[in-house]
Amino acid sequence: MVSVKKIQKVVVLGTGGTIAGTAASASEQVAYTAAQLGVDQLMAAVPGLDKVLDGRQLLVEQVAQLDSKDMDHATWQLLACRCAHWLAQDDVGALVITHGTDTLEETAWFLQSVLQPHKPVVMVCAMRPASSDEADGPQNLRDALVVSAQPSAAGVCVVCAGVIHSARDVQKVHPYRLDAFSSGDAGPLGWMDRGQVQWSSVYARTALQTATLANSVMTFDVQQWPAVEVVLSHAGAGRRVVDALVQTGVAGLVVAGSGNGTVHHVLQAALKDAEQAGVRVRLSTRCIEGRIVGSSRWPDMAGLSPVKARISLMLELLAESSV
Ligand code: ASP
Repeated sequence: MVSVKKIQKVVVLGTGGTIAGTAASASEQVAYTAAQLGVDQLMAAVPGLDKVLDGRQLLVEQVAQLDSKDMDHATWQLLACRCAHWLAQDDVGALVITHGTDTLEETAWFLQSVLQPHKPVVMVCAMRPASSDEADGPQNLRDALVVSAQPSAAGVCVVCAGVIHSARDVQKVHPYRLDAFSSGDAGPLGWMDRGQVQWSSVYARTALQTATLANSVMTFDVQQWPAVEVVLSHAGAGRRVVDALVQTGVAGLVVAGSGNGTVHHVLQAALKDAEQAGVRVRLSTRCIEGRIVGSSRWPDMAGLSPVKARISLMLELLAESSV
C-alpha cells in the first residue's frame, strides 16, 4: 500500500485594507480606496507563489472587505469564528490574514487573546495600494507565507516590511513609511533575511496572557459585549467625557495617562466617581514607548497600549459576565 503524505494547507483570510486597495493610477500612493481587490487577486500577485508554498495547499476565504479604520466588533467576532474553524482542522498548518494597517494591532491582540492559537496566525498588510507600481503588499504576503511555514511559529504575529512583530507589542508608529510598525522596547520577534526567517532572542519569551472566554466571544451578540472606552488625559482635561460615558452605561474605562500614567486631577476625580458608580477603570500611558513603572492609582494592564488595554478589559468583563 502506498502511504499518502498528508498535504498541509495554509488558509489566507482576506479582510480588506490598503493591501487590497486601488488608485486611479499606478503612481498614486496616497489617494486610493482601500479594500477593492479580492484575496484571490492578492495571492495571484505574490512573486514565486508556488515556490514559497513548497507543496502546501493554498485555500482563500474573503471574510470581510473593509478599510480597517472601520473595523468593528461584529467583524472581529466573524473573523474569530472563521479562524477557530480553520485552526481546528488537522490538515491546516497555518492561517494568514490580510488586513489594513490602521487597526491591525487591535485585531492582532483581539485574536491572540481570544484564540491563543498553537498554530501560526500571520497578519499581513501594506502601506501602498495593490495598484501601485511600487506596491509592498505582494512581498509582504510572500514573507507572511514563509513565516506561516516555520515549524517553531505559533500564535498571532504581524509581518510588515520584512519585520515580524508579536501581537502584544506591535504598534503602528508612522502614517506613511513602508516600515510603519514597531514593537517598541520589546523589539521584533524576528525579521526576513534573504527570504528566510531569522528569529530574535525575544521570540522564546513571548507568552501572552489575558482573561479569555473564546466561546462567549464567538457566540454572544456583539451588542451585548461590555462597553469599554478610552479616555485621554491632557492639558485642560475636563470631566464631561467621563460623565457622559457613565450616563450611557459604560462598563469600563481605560485612561491613557500622560507620561508615567499621570492623570489630570479633574479627570482623575471624574474617574474616581465613575469607579464609585461601578465602572471598572484601568490605566495606560499615551507614551508610544515604555510602560508605567511603580505603583499607580489604577491597575495598568501590564504595559498594553490604550487600544489593546481596551480590548483586554472588554474581554475580562465579558468573561466575568458569562460565568
Ligand atoms: N486605512 C487603511 C486600512 O487600515 C490603511 C492601510 O491599510 O494601510 O485599511
